Amino acid sequence: MLVAIKGEFRKSGATFHSVAEVGAFNVPDDAGKVGDGPDVFVEDILNAAQDMADPRLARILAQEAGDAMQYLEKYGVTFEKSGNGYLVFQACFSSRPRSHVIPEHFKPIVKALGQEASRRQIGVLDRTMIVDLIVRDGQCVGVIALGADGVPLIIRSKSTILTTGGASQIFAKNLYPSHITGDGYAMAYPAGARLANLEFMQAGVSTLTPFVNLFGNYLWDAQPRLTDRNGKPFLADYLPAGLSPEAVIAQKAKHFPFSASDISRYIEIAIQQAINDGRGSDEGGVYMDFIDCDFETLFADKTRSITNYVGNSDLGITGIIPRGELFRVPLTDGRTVWRISRLVGMRLGIILWSPIAGEFAGYKETDRPCQSGTVLAKHGRHVHVRAR
Ligand SMILES: Cc1cc2nc3c(=O)[nH]c(=O)nc-3n(C[C@H](O)[C@H](O)[C@H](O)COP(=O)(O)OP(=O)(O)OC[C@H]3O[C@@H](n4cnc5c(N)ncnc54)[C@H](O)[C@@H]3O)c2cc1C
Repeated sequence: MLVAIKGEFRKSGATFHSVAEVGAFNVPDDAGKVGDGPDVFVEDILNAAQDMADPRLARILAQEAGDAMQYLEKYGVTFEKSGNGYLVFQACFSSRPRSHVIPEHFKPIVKALGQEASRRQIGVLDRTMIVDLIVRDGQCVGVIALGADGVPLIIRSKSTILTTGGASQIFAKNLYPSHITGDGYAMAYPAGARLANLEFMQAGVSTLTPFVNLFGNYLWDAQPRLTDRNGKPFLADYLPAGLSPEAVIAQKAKHFPFSASDISRYIEIAIQQAINDGRGSDEGGVYMDFIDCDFETLFADKTRSITNYVGNSDLGITGIIPRGELFRVPLTDGRTVWRISRLVGMRLGIILWSPIAGEFAGYKETDRPCQSGTVLAKHGRHVHVRAR
């Protein structure tokens, strides 16, 4: 067996690219003890897809997820535990809590499987890009590749398995690493393969600067304000009559991906319209700020989704995500703002970080009050602290 990888061995792919706080691995093993099982999982998938998903594929996923988790555990991937069982949470579009939690997103999967591949002495050619399939009489008999030095290679094989990931780089703004460019589709289609389900992809509000990160849907629970390049709130300008920004945002707090199935869709539509109208930031996004959000009241209410995910003390870290994302910072004008770590949809009005996130992002926490407009820089990256 030979594995050819365009990126670096054990360090490439979307699976290695941590752009969310944790990886959610869905297994319908009823860890939450609320009557989950493969049939419920399949039903959830088909409901969310509004009957456009292939039930055969949904069944394979639901039935094999448990075995896949055990396989990964066998090779050293750790899933978070709670008491004697697994920690699970109810993710977007799920009717039961079944998302098992891998800290560090999915990096541990690549590390564990890479280590096992090395132990088994499986041949690896990394920094090697497969550019075409060699097909004779309808059979794939090998591939043409380019090595890191640009020298072409022919690799002959009895069987060829393409696992080149998705095609997110066809979008100007995306959450994927630069080498995920749909190469598998581009090679397989001219070779005669039938491609299916290409329309199933996730789009959602994410942060653009100072680092790219998925914007956790539970944070919408704080009712942040979306503003344009001039600091003017714009959501209400693009809503149909009768809909309030609060109602639309409340729905958005229930799921990350864009969905046409509820009124949360008006958030993404409004953002795009604001950008189309020339109201976007220089980076091609918009701003979001939490300055007027009343976190004290919010965190006091344990039924709120944000309370389940985010810690509730200055630097406190509690809840399902073991890393704090929000904490208080005194401004020199006497006001307090809430800092947000490791995220930022687009570009936020206030972009801040926690000590732990700082470690992750290369930033260092500072105890001194931040002045409005202060720009702090470390490792050549800038963080804007903007207060109104
Ligand atoms: C922000 C974010 C959050 C996510 N959260 C979750 C989640 O919570 N739960 C979940 O289930 N999924 C989640 N996903 C999706 C999940 O990460 C991906 O579906 C998964 O990692 C894809 O794995 P893969 O092995 O198919 O591809 P990748 O991990 O992308 O691997 C593709 C590999 O192919 C190589 N390659 C590409 N082209 C070539 C070529 N021409 N020649 C040789 N090698 C090539 C690349 O170098 C890479 O090593 C998330 C994705 C993102 C971006």
